[in-house]
Amino acid sequence: MKIRPHPRMTGIIIGDEVYSHPHKIFARVADIFPAAVCVKIGILSTEEPMEITQDPQLWRADDIENLSVCRYCGSREDIHTVIDTGIPFRVCSTCSSVADEPAPLPPLA
Ligand SMILES: [Zn+2]
Repeated sequence: MKIRPHPRMTGIIIGDEVYSHPHKIFARVADIFPAAVCVKIGILSTEEPMEITQDPQLWRADDIENLSVCRYCGSREDIHTVIDTGIPFRVCSTCSSVADEPAPLPPLA
């Protein structure tokens, strides 16, 4: 049986920043599976001595958004961060120029 990767998994590489909708946190991808990513979450222990440990978790592809690529076309070239919805995301200059362009004026009669 051939395992087909989840469509959202295409283009994700190790080190990408992903956002988990159910957990509402960001993390970096540590490992990649056909339909999930492994991320390491820093957890501060409440016992002495207080330490941050790295807790590996599996996040399903359905629950995550890759923030390291352009949200519209998936490009990694020339991307910048947009923060106006609460969740920052990245847009490449091609897609953002399309989005920013004012609607064309109707032709003069
Ligand atoms: Zn784009």
